[in-house]
Formats: sequence, structure tokens, C-alpha cells
Amino acid sequence: MKVPEAALYTCPKCRQCTVTAEPRYEPICPMYEEFGFTTHSGAGILKIGRGFAEGDLGLEEALVPLAKCTLCRACDRCPIGGHPSRLVQEMRREAHRTGVPMPPEQRTLLENLRRSGNPYGAPAETMEVTGAPADAVLLGGCVTAHFPEARGAADGLDRLLGAARVPFATLSLCCGALAWQLGDTETFEERADALLKAVQRHGGKTLVVPQAHCYRALSRETRRFKDAGVEVLHSTQYIFRLHQEGRLKFRSDTVGVGGGPVDGQCSPAAPRGQHGSAPSPRRQVTYHDPCELARGCGVTEEPRQLLEAAGYTLVEMPRNREDLWCCGAGSGVLQTDPGYALHTAEKRIQEARGTGAATLCSACPQCEVSLQRAGGLPVADVMELLAERV
Ligand code: SF4
Ligand code: SF4
Repeated sequence: MKVPEAALYTCPKCRQCTVTAEPRYEPICPMYEEFGFTTHSGAGILKIGRGFAEGDLGLEEALVPLAKCTLCRACDRCPIGGHPSRLVQEMRREAHRTGVPMPPEQRTLLENLRRSGNPYGAPAETMEVTGAPADAVLLGGCVTAHFPEARGAADGLDRLLGAARVPFATLSLCCGALAWQLGDTETFEERADALLKAVQRHGGKTLVVPQAHCYRALSRETRRFKDAGVEVLHSTQYIFRLHQEGRLKFRSDTVGVGGGPVDGQCSPAAPRGQHGSAPSPRRQVTYHDPCELARGCGVTEEPRQLLEAAGYTLVEMPRNREDLWCCGAGSGVLQTDPGYALHTAEKRIQEARGTGAATLCSACPQCEVSLQRAGGLPVADVMELLAERV
């Protein structure tokens, strides 16, 4: 296993894998928060790994609590280098390699993916790229294709690229990142290979990915794209680059920030005795860092800088950047345990409401689906909000 074996024996149960950094010490492991057992925490994962390594625990049995792990990576701040989330993946990979059955709900997702090309069991998708050959190819992943509430990122991106006059093509398919998360690296590599070939057939040089988990898997877990000279960028990185190069302008770049209604409200009237209208307050938004983007890839500032540049006022939730609180959807949990995913998302909505922001935005369609299901606050993708300002 890739986790240092010593960590399996030296965990002092300091619990740093379950809380944010000092001084706040707020909950950070959704699995531990929901189930409350040590087995459902980073420390428990190391103990499970030890039991498995010593032959005291069968892999099939070990995989049961691990099925609740969203792979949010919060526990990887473990001070002894235990990397519990990596251990979860290692054990899932081991199960796949040795033919040990996954828990049934995860097995269904994998079987669907192998059979239909998406985890939801919907009819098989084609790998066709739509649009004329272009350097930039947008990946509309399976979440975007199968959940109408997740369309915002793709639609916003479409409008932004139109405004920047960047020719682009669109490819709608599942990249197989979920297979990688569930330990089936072969299926992931097959999907990634097919995806790369489809991009190359179309002359694409850059693959733009709105989904955080897909972006991480395609840019970090396979060398195919790098070796083929195809750049993989998250949508926020690509739009940030266009804005930096001056190819994409927001209204606030030319008329000054501060304009725009506050979520449909009228601008406040000028106080008595003053002439002219009062400037509209900037719309306040709060940004939810997707786990795989912030912790998995270290991308935290591009979305924030873009929102500010487009004239929004960013108000931060207490748990932000690497100290984020997961949306609850990761690693297939949105499908395998929707009630638990919902509880996790509700806690995020509660935190977002505490900021007073009018809108909660994120940079991953899967986060948006999970957070929208929790309700209680308008949820949008960063791309949608930016597209309102071009
Ligand atoms: S897994 Fe790491 S962070 Fe968690 S209790 Fe053990 S040593 Fe502490
Ligand atoms: S990856 Fe996230 S859900 Fe899984 S054990 Fe670590 S902190 Fe908990």
C-alpha cells in the first residue's frame, strides 16, 4: 500500500483528521459527523488498514464503512502522514484487483459505468464531439448530461466563450473518474483513452473540464493527456487565463465595479435630501470550494479573483479553501446514500446562510446538484455568475 506502513501503528488518535485547523476546530470529516463511530474517521481507516494488513479483517468487511467516505481528503492533514483517504482508495483498488466484491450500491454504479458508459444506468452515450474543430474542447460530463440542475456550469461557460469569441467544441460523455474513485483504474484508463482519442480526432489542444473530480482524475491520475500534448484545465483556470490575457472582459472591467441589482431587488432609494440615485450595493456571494479542486489540486484563488473581477462581493464561509466542508456528493455517495449526502449539504447551506450572501456558488456541477437538493439558498456555478457580467 502507498500509505507509510508505520502510520498504521502510530496513530495517537489526536482527531486532527476530523476537525479544521486551530483555533476553530470545526467538524471537517462528513463521514464521522454523520455516523459518529471511530470506524468512520481517518483514525478508524488506519485501524481498518492495519487489521487488513495483519490478516485480522477481510477486505469485503473492511469496505463496508469505507463506502461512506466521500474522499473529501480532509483527513489527509493527518500529522503522521497517514493519508487515510489514500488508504481508502488503495483498499478499493486492492478489492478490484483481487475480485473482492464492493458493497452492492457501489457495485451497481460501477456495473452501470462499464455497461452504459455512465454510472446512472441511462442509455449509452456516444463519444461524438459537436462543433467545428477547435483548440478548446469542453467536457460536458455525465453529471451535466443527466442532472438538469447541473446545466449551469456548461451554459455559463458556453456564454463566456461566446463573449470572448473563442471557438470551441463540446464533448458529452462520462470520463470515468468515479471508476477511479471506486478503485477500478482499468475502466477509468479505458474511458480516459477514448476521451483523449475523441479530443484528438477533433484537433483539440485543450480540454476544459467543469467538474472538479473529473478535472483532478484527468489531470493528475493519468499521464495520457500530458504525454499527448493535450492540456487539461478546469473551467475556472481557463476563464481566468482568458481574463488575464484581456480576451474576456466583464462589464465591471470597463464601467467600474459596483453595478447590478441585488438578486432581483431594486436599488435602494437615495436618502432624503440627496440628489441622484445611490449606487447599487454589489451582490454578495459566497464560494464553496469543491474538495477535488481545492484539496486535490490546490485551485482556490482563480474562482475568487474572477468573482471579484466580475463585480461580486465575496463573503467567506468559516470553512473555506483547504479547510472546506464537503458538499456530501463525492465518491458516489450522492447516489449510494442520498440521505447522508443531503445532511452534509444541509450543513453547508446553513454555513452559507450565516454569511448573509444572496447566492452560494461553486465550481463543480456535482456540488451544485447536492447543494441544490438541500435547498434554502440559491445555488449557482461560478460560470453562471460570471456569464451574467459579460
Ligand atoms: S489518523 Fe492521523 S489525524 Fe487522525 S487521529 Fe490518527 S494521527 Fe491523528
Ligand atoms: S476523505 Fe473525507 S469523508 Fe473520507 S475519512 Fe477522510 S475526511 Fe472523512
